[in-house]
Amino acid sequence: MSTILLKGILLNGAVKDILIKGSRIASIGTSLAVPDAPCKIVDCTGKAAVPGFVNMHTHSAMTLTRGYREDAKLQDWLQDIWKVEARMDEEAIYWGTKLACLEMMKTGTTTFYDQYWMIDSAVQAVQEMGLRGEHAFVALDLKDEGKDAAIKAGMEAMYEKSLEWGERCRMTVGVHAPYTVSDSMIQWCSGFARERGLSLHIHVSETEQENLDSLALNGCSPFEHLQRLGVLGPEVIAAHCVWLSENDMDIMAANGVTAVHNINSNLKLASGSRFLYNELKGRGVNVCLGTDGCGSSNNLDMREAMKTAALLQKGWRRDPEALPLGELMDMATLNGACALGLDCGVLEEGRLADIVIVDTDNYAFVPGLDFLSDFIYSANSSCVESVICNGEFVMENRVVPGEKEILENVRRVCKKLYI
Ligand SMILES: [Zn+2]
Repeated sequence: MSTILLKGILLNGAVKDILIKGSRIASIGTSLAVPDAPCKIVDCTGKAAVPGFVNMHTHSAMTLTRGYREDAKLQDWLQDIWKVEARMDEEAIYWGTKLACLEMMKTGTTTFYDQYWMIDSAVQAVQEMGLRGEHAFVALDLKDEGKDAAIKAGMEAMYEKSLEWGERCRMTVGVHAPYTVSDSMIQWCSGFARERGLSLHIHVSETEQENLDSLALNGCSPFEHLQRLGVLGPEVIAAHCVWLSENDMDIMAANGVTAVHNINSNLKLASGSRFLYNELKGRGVNVCLGTDGCGSSNNLDMREAMKTAALLQKGWRRDPEALPLGELMDMATLNGACALGLDCGVLEEGRLADIVIVDTDNYAFVPGLDFLSDFIYSANSSCVESVICNGEFVMENRVVPGEKEILENVRRVCKKLYI
């Protein structure tokens, strides 16, 4: 069990010491005694501590599609992305996920909710990199129930394997979206998740067209349809939720559904920009933040996502008090941890030691009147100096072991994707 003592670090406005034993924060105080056992002591003068970000929606190996097919309509973009994805093999997913982990470390994310293919390869990458991954096995039958037997068998086999993944990675159930998955498959996935205590991740109401199509096909909105299917509950984590009626939000609140806001992706694909944060929060819905995959958001930078989310809320509402800093930080950390039942997302004694060390000795943090304001609005993510996940340094002084090898291998596998 390793022991780390962070000496003299700014935490919630006061200078403290943080003692980490094993995977957890053992104590927080002033002038903590150095323990007898071997202990790594880090002088944190001029640094600040924040919880590692929890990115609640991404497709991590889509780092491989970063910058491909810009300025295109959603359907055109998707058609082209699918052609590239069809060429991805396990090696590509492995290196693409490693690149995602590298970027997440550099930008302060310690936990991410992934929905992509070949999750064994992704999990191997995450285990080696040292982050926390929630890996949704995706059901996507394109409404062809003939495919369902194979999907069910794959889901069951992967669940058995996932029991050996160790403490940082977990399998969850993914349903791509109500418009791409048959009703019977959605209900089967819901039962599978509930029987095993897993969360269920699904894209819902991302575009206006999706809602119009649902109305034409089912006579109701996607959330109303999911409620009729009996699959909504506190285990459901719904990505996007851009186009919501009053009734949709009442349904989400009544069922304890978590919403994940992915502002950069929504803006880039022009899916919609008026996320109903106040209305969801007012009903008690847990709202988290995600980046979505690099195919649409181009990066996995949660700090940038926070800034965009806040600026948009203030802008379209014409209300500068909308989405204040404390709530913004919770959306990017604690709310996600709560949705996943993880003991991280806030720096307190007894919690998991998922900690980002921020360098405040630069122009963005001077004069230093409000740390969160400087961190989110003034700085960029190069201020993330070191990252601890599960009580271990995964990045120290911006050095990630194997960084060069990751870049070289991603360049190599991409030659096979773009031919
Ligand atoms: Zn997505």
